[in-house]
Amino acid sequence: MKTDRGETLLKARTGFIRTKGERMPTQSCEADSVSGSVSQRACVYCGARVVLNPITDAVHLVHGPIGCASYTFDIRGSLSSGAELYRYSFSTDLKEQDIIFGGERKLAAAIDELVQKYHPPLVLVYSTCVAGVIGDDLEAVCRAAAQRHGIAVLPVESSGFAGNKSEGYRVACEVLMRLMEAGNSPLPAMEPGINYLGDYNLAGELWIIGGYLRRMGVKLNAAFTGDSSLKALQTAPAAAFNIVQCAGSMGYLAKRMQERYGIPFFHVSFLGLQDSADSLRLIASATGDEEVMARTEELIAEEAGQAEPFIQAYRDKLSGKKAAVYVGGGFKAISLIKQFRELGVEVVMIGTQTGRKEEYDEIHNLVEDGTVILDDANPAELERFMSRQGADLLVGGVKERPLAYKLGVAFIDHNHDRKHPLSGFEGAVHFAREVYHTVCSPVWKYVKQGG
Ligand code: SF4
Repeated sequence: MKTDRGETLLKARTGFIRTKGERMPTQSCEADSVSGSVSQRACVYCGARVVLNPITDAVHLVHGPIGCASYTFDIRGSLSSGAELYRYSFSTDLKEQDIIFGGERKLAAAIDELVQKYHPPLVLVYSTCVAGVIGDDLEAVCRAAAQRHGIAVLPVESSGFAGNKSEGYRVACEVLMRLMEAGNSPLPAMEPGINYLGDYNLAGELWIIGGYLRRMGVKLNAAFTGDSSLKALQTAPAAAFNIVQCAGSMGYLAKRMQERYGIPFFHVSFLGLQDSADSLRLIASATGDEEVMARTEELIAEEAGQAEPFIQAYRDKLSGKKAAVYVGGGFKAISLIKQFRELGVEVVMIGTQTGRKEEYDEIHNLVEDGTVILDDANPAELERFMSRQGADLLVGGVKERPLAYKLGVAFIDHNHDRKHPLSGFEGAVHFAREVYHTVCSPVWKYVKQGG
C-alpha cells in the first residue's frame, strides 16, 4: 500500500487503515498485531496491570524478570486517598537459574516475605512472558499462600505473549469477579448505590465525578478501580446499576456483573462539556428520583455556566486547527471528536489500540470525509498520516509523544501517565487550556525552521 508520499506501508495492515469517504472494506480491528509491524499497543500483562494497579491496598507482585516491573505508580497518574501500598511494584526478579529449574519456590518465598512485612488484605501475582514460558503454576502457589496467610492471594494470568492488551483487560476483569465472589456470601445488605466502572482516578478525576454524584444525591459504592480497596470493591454487588466509562477495559466486567448479580449498566463519558452534562442526566434519570434530577440540572447549569466562557475564549484562538488522535480505547476517541468540536478543532486522523467494531462505526459516522482512521497503528503510520493530514496537534500517550515532537507537532498526554485531570466540567477547561498552550506555543515555528 502506497501513501501519497510514495512510502510503502505493510500490505497486511491495509484493512486496519481507512479514509472516510473513500470506497474501502470495513475497518479491521479486535485482532492480534500484524507480524513485523511494531505496534504501539501494549502487552497482556500491561492491560491487566492498567486495570488492577489502582487497587491501593494490594501488593502487586510481578512474577518475571525485573524489566516487566518497571510499571509502577510513579509512572502512572492514579491517585489514592488512603493506602499507598500500590505505589510499589514488587518483582520476583527471575534469573537464568529460575528459568531452568522453575520459579515457584522463589514466588512462594516472595509472597511470604511481603505478607510478613506489609500485612496486605490482598496479593495479586502477575504472570509475565517468562513465567508463562517456563510454566510455573501460579494458581497452585497462590492457593497455598492464601491458606498459609488467611488472605486473598490471586494469580493474574497475564503472560505478555498470550494475546494483546484487550486480553489483559479480560483477565483483570475475571480477577475482579473472583474478588467480589470471595467477599459476598451472602450479598451485603446495604443502601443501593452505583458503581463507576472504567475510571482510574488519574490526577484525581474520580474525586471530581464523585463530587458531582454527591451533590446530585447519588451514592457511589465502588469505583473500578480508581482509588479502590479490597473492601470497597466487595460492596459492588449491592449496587442498583453500573455506569461504564472506559468500555474497552470494563465492558466485559459490566456484562459479567449483569449475568452474575443482575446489575444493569449503561455507558457514560465525562470528557467535554456536552458528554459530561449528558452523562449526569442519564445517571439522574436512571435513579428515577425527581429530586436527584432537579439537583442535577442545578449542578449542570452552575458548572457549565462557569466553564463555558473559558471554552469560548480558547475556541476563539483554536478555531480551524487540526488534531490527530491516537489513544487506548474507542470511548475516549469518540468523546475526543466531540470535545474538539466544542473547541472548533477538526480531527483529521484518529486511531485506537483496542477499539471495537461498534466504536469504529461510531467514529466513522462522527468524523468528516478525508479523516484517516487507524486501528493498532505503528509509529511509521502515525508519523506519515499526521504529516499527510497536516495535524497541528497529536493526542496520545507516552509512546506517541516523541513522534509528535520529531515532526514539530504539538502534543497532549491523554494517557494514564498524566498528572492533570481532564474529566468533568473543570477537566474540560484544563483540556482546552492545554490544547491552547501547546498548539499556540511559539516554539513550533522555531522547531520547524530548525528542521
Ligand atoms: S510480560 Fe512480556 S511483553 Fe509484557 S512487559 Fe513483560 S516481557 Fe514485555
